[in-house]
Amino acid sequence: IKKIAVMTSGGDAPGMNAAIRSVVRACAYYRVNCIGIYRGYEGLIEGDFIELTARSVNNIINKGGTILKSARSEGFRTKEGRAQAYEHLKENEIEAMVVIGGDGSFTGAVIFNEEYNFPVIGIPGTIDNDIFGTSHTLGYDTALNTAVEAIDKIRDTASSHNRLFFVEVMGRDAGFIALNAGVGAGAEEILIPEEDLGLDRMLESLKKSRRTGKSSSIVVVAEGDRSGKNVYELAKYVEENLPEYDVRVSVLGHMQRGGSPSCFDRVLASRLGVKSVELILDGKTNLMVGLKNNEVISTSIAEAIKGGHSINQELLRVSDIMTT
Ligand code: ATP
Repeated sequence: IKKIAVMTSGGDAPGMNAAIRSVVRACAYYRVNCIGIYRGYEGLIEGDFIELTARSVNNIINKGGTILKSARSEGFRTKEGRAQAYEHLKENEIEAMVVIGGDGSFTGAVIFNEEYNFPVIGIPGTIDNDIFGTSHTLGYDTALNTAVEAIDKIRDTASSHNRLFFVEVMGRDAGFIALNAGVGAGAEEILIPEEDLGLDRMLESLKKSRRTGKSSSIVVVAEGDRSGKNVYELAKYVEENLPEYDVRVSVLGHMQRGGSPSCFDRVLASRLGVKSVELILDGKTNLMVGLKNNEVISTSIAEAIKGGHSINQELLRVSDIMTT
């Protein structure tokens, strides 16, 4: 193999730049040319490429976002779009591709590989941590730290005014950020998509806190929680049922996707980038690199897509005990 391409696709996540850097530097180390594809599959369809050398990726290990930009591409969902993409790869003599993204990006990669037998390796990059085959996705640790830092600040104002805050964190289908940031920031209740704990339970718990002398509280809510109410409706519901509480809402939003990656994410990105290039040079394809018990491993991309995720029950129990 003489030329490998790398792209970032789907939602951006801190650590993507560190992964690009790692892929590029590993290519340079093994004397393979490296091409960056701008804007994910959209740039692939348009042939929007740039040659990357070891020096092109100076000073990006600490940067949030992605220098290659990211996009969602409707065109790549069509046969014609993928045909155009393949033409550009052939024209440029690119022989394999590293896709940094989430499960949607991996689905696209698998379909492309089936159609054109084109070697692809995936690096899981999403703040949601909802990918089977790795204990951590790129960006998750940074997003968690950002959420905890923000909730800490909300706690200061909550306790000064004896208020109850509902804080919404990212996670439409996965409660990893909510559960871990919730435990890390000492939340009273944590509402996640995986478990329906029931609104009565939350009311009971908040009532009990008041009785036992807590004057302020934080409830962390994942975007996709199962209560059937959004964060504003939840706040209203509690206000109506527990008039003794002064309730406020804070939605953390896109700040959770940004910022300088944590050391953990930088190290993870560096390890996964090197592994992805080494797998390609070993003639492997359709694999996703990941972390398990702090070892770098690989899983078939198909398995990673359909594997699903499960929530840590022990952590839920710890969270319960902490609200005593
Ligand atoms: P995140 O988890 O952060 O949302 P993602 O990689 O899952 O990241 P998606 O928007 O789901 O993000 O997917 C990224 C891109 O992958 C899509 O815009 C599309 O171009 C491509 N893709 C997804 N599913 C398919 C598919 N079934 N066929 C072809 N391409 C697809």
